[in-house]
Amino acid sequence: MSTTIQGGCHCGSVRYKFSVESSTLPLDADYCHCDDCRLTIGGFCGLYVEAPVATFTLTGTGALVRYNSSSRLTRTHCSKCGTSITADDNKGVKVSVIVSTFDLFSGVAYDSLVKPVYHIFVKDTWRGGVTTIIDDGLPRYKAFKQDGLWMDDAVTKSPSEEIQPTSGGEITGGCHCKGIQFTVRRAPDTWADDPVLVKWIKHGNRFSAIHCFCDTCRQVSGAPFWTWAFVPYKLITFTSNSTERIYRSSATKPCERRFCGTCGCTFSYTASPGFEMWDMSVATFDQTKVEEWLSFRPAPAGEDLADEALGSYIHGWLDSPERRPISYAVDGEKYNPTP
Ligand SMILES: [Zn+2]
Ligand SMILES: [Zn+2]
Ligand SMILES: [Zn+2]
Repeated sequence: MSTTIQGGCHCGSVRYKFSVESSTLPLDADYCHCDDCRLTIGGFCGLYVEAPVATFTLTGTGALVRYNSSSRLTRTHCSKCGTSITADDNKGVKVSVIVSTFDLFSGVAYDSLVKPVYHIFVKDTWRGGVTTIIDDGLPRYKAFKQDGLWMDDAVTKSPSEEIQPTSGGEITGGCHCKGIQFTVRRAPDTWADDPVLVKWIKHGNRFSAIHCFCDTCRQVSGAPFWTWAFVPYKLITFTSNSTERIYRSSATKPCERRFCGTCGCTFSYTASPGFEMWDMSVATFDQTKVEEWLSFRPAPAGEDLADEALGSYIHGWLDSPERRPISYAVDGEKYNPTP
């Protein structure tokens, strides 16, 4: 007996399906933390399953953009909304599908389809990166599985021990293909005197930041979760935006999500055109010690929050108090199977 898995992009124009032997469910999935995944998706990692190539079929009407992120892999995303969909070997031998794009909204149990088994390319992150906050007990490999486990002791070190807030300087960032490149300036020490900055800047001249699990952030990007820094627009300068595309992801809100039309990287969200603050994707920042610039905070009033009860349910996400701020945890619950 076979099971057909269907999915697609956020705007609905790119659709796909593939079939697997039902006995192989749940499918093994792996988190990849490599630079190529990070900068083509715009999130800190991708979560993939390998689909049988012979059964993988595109069924939608939308245009899928193909982008060679290396000599080995071609990535795809929707031309209209930017959702990252697959990574393939360009030879028709192997296709990995991004789990966040599966249809999971009609009563399909996530756990029945997918089982995360390990993390790869942890060496591309800084001191273990977000694998230190995905406390799922899964093996973390330096690169591919055969390259051995990531054993750096610093992985277990609390980032708060190393944060040394400084003023001055700037962050650079952008997408994989470099069509999008920007700088973010540190808020000046006089930020409290500025009517815009005073609303958004935190102690230590930091930007607020949050991990978001909402269905839209997950699906628009293809990342299993999304990390935003809230940056006043007057502190952002785009040195290149030649490949920028804008996607309005809500029928009821005037929000804009921006992605690179060439490589697919989603890099910002704004509540409305011209708004004074932009959410910038932290995963697109170059500086590895960007924690010095950020203050992770609880979700705004009206958005659900992780609490003690949820801590174990969503896989140990952010299990230390200062790293717990996550938004739309309830949306995230259904994607995080019981370990
Ligand atoms: Zn789309
Ligand atoms: Zn990767
Ligand atoms: Zn790009």
